[in-house]
Amino acid sequence: MDHLSLEKPTMPDTLRPLGNFTPSLWGDRFSSFTLDTQLLEKCSKEVEVLKEEVKDMLVLDNDDVGRGKSAGAEKMVLIDALERLGVSYLFQKEIEELLENMFPKFEEYCHVFHDNLFMVSLHFRVFRRHGYDLSSGKWWKEWDLRSHIPYVRDRAVECFFYSTAVCFEPQYSLARLVLTKAMIMISILDDTYDAYGTYEELKCFTNAVQRWDMNAIDQLPKYMKPIYKALLNIHDEFYQEIMAKKGINYSVQYLEEAYKEVIRCYDVETEWLKKGYVQTMEEHLANALVTVTSPLLTTAAFVGMGEIATPEAFQWLQSQPRILMACSTIFRVINDIQSCKTEDERSHVTTGVDCYMKQYAVSRAEAIGELLKIIENAWIDINEEMMRPTMISRDLVIRVLNFTRLYGVVYKYNDGYTQPECGKDSIIALYEDSIPI
Ligand SMILES: [Mg+2]
Repeated sequence: MDHLSLEKPTMPDTLRPLGNFTPSLWGDRFSSFTLDTQLLEKCSKEVEVLKEEVKDMLVLDNDDVGRGKSAGAEKMVLIDALERLGVSYLFQKEIEELLENMFPKFEEYCHVFHDNLFMVSLHFRVFRRHGYDLSSGKWWKEWDLRSHIPYVRDRAVECFFYSTAVCFEPQYSLARLVLTKAMIMISILDDTYDAYGTYEELKCFTNAVQRWDMNAIDQLPKYMKPIYKALLNIHDEFYQEIMAKKGINYSVQYLEEAYKEVIRCYDVETEWLKKGYVQTMEEHLANALVTVTSPLLTTAAFVGMGEIATPEAFQWLQSQPRILMACSTIFRVINDIQSCKTEDERSHVTTGVDCYMKQYAVSRAEAIGELLKIIENAWIDINEEMMRPTMISRDLVIRVLNFTRLYGVVYKYNDGYTQPECGKDSIIALYEDSIPI
């Protein structure tokens, strides 16, 4: 190749996109390598012994069957390690047999991993890599509501993130699940009332929800049927799941009541909108402290928390306790301030900002200033209510505090639910980025 470097460029003025590539790092390091055949032979023998050991580890024996789920988890970690090391091809037959054995049983034992995101994602990854059809968004995809109602905000990931903020402790995995589904459902209902349904359609829907009976589905327009079905179905699922896992049969009915109440208040908003009525601040808050959904979502969190949420705890929630009202007020007011920016262009329900401006004949900036004072006072209420002793278990009351903290994060810069870009980094940081150790 040397002669090439001696060649003079024929066209010295030609501008070429020269890469100026750096030379090889390795020199003769590998080309002068000689093989120690004796050592190679010794290693090969050791490898054969180790191979047999690994093959044994990849078989589900009687001991493993007795240990059930933990044995399955260990095998999955082993398969993943072999694949990452690039040696799984040596055990292809054993791995395939093992996965074939494990897959049908996965449904039975997967719930024990709900506290352990690593194990859930590991099983998902390995099964999918081997061609097993394991659903990634178990129930959200199954609902398939997006194809029926494309107008809704698709925020399943955000909803799970929010649920983690409210009930982050490992033992409350069921609460996160119930809360996520409840959030998605109420978000669909909110968009249906605010951003799609006509007055007449919404009247039908309001009536059907008050009946809470699958037979009422016939009276609904076609696009509303899957929504209604999903609403009733998730409640049946909650009931069965909470009965099976916690032996509790009283809690889900409180959630049903909470949905009915929110829908009644959505209906009031629909009436106001049709009449073009700008309500007083007091009228607005009385209705909007329900439609803001904090009472409903707190009920959902309690449902998922199991036996700690006694019937008395649910009755306490229904009694409009001061801390819950303060939490709802904060959410309502932050939401009003932020969403009045995005909803201005279209016909929308009147926000607290509009009510305040009209009632007190002040400018938008002045109204927002006054509303911020309401938030400050509500925080004082919350801090006082968190003092011991609390009316119900403090572990439950903390959820109301967590919701309030969450609203501050989601609505800090804009309506972070409608425009989720601001929260994207937090979600990636929590679920994807590992913490350097
Ligand atoms: Mg709404």
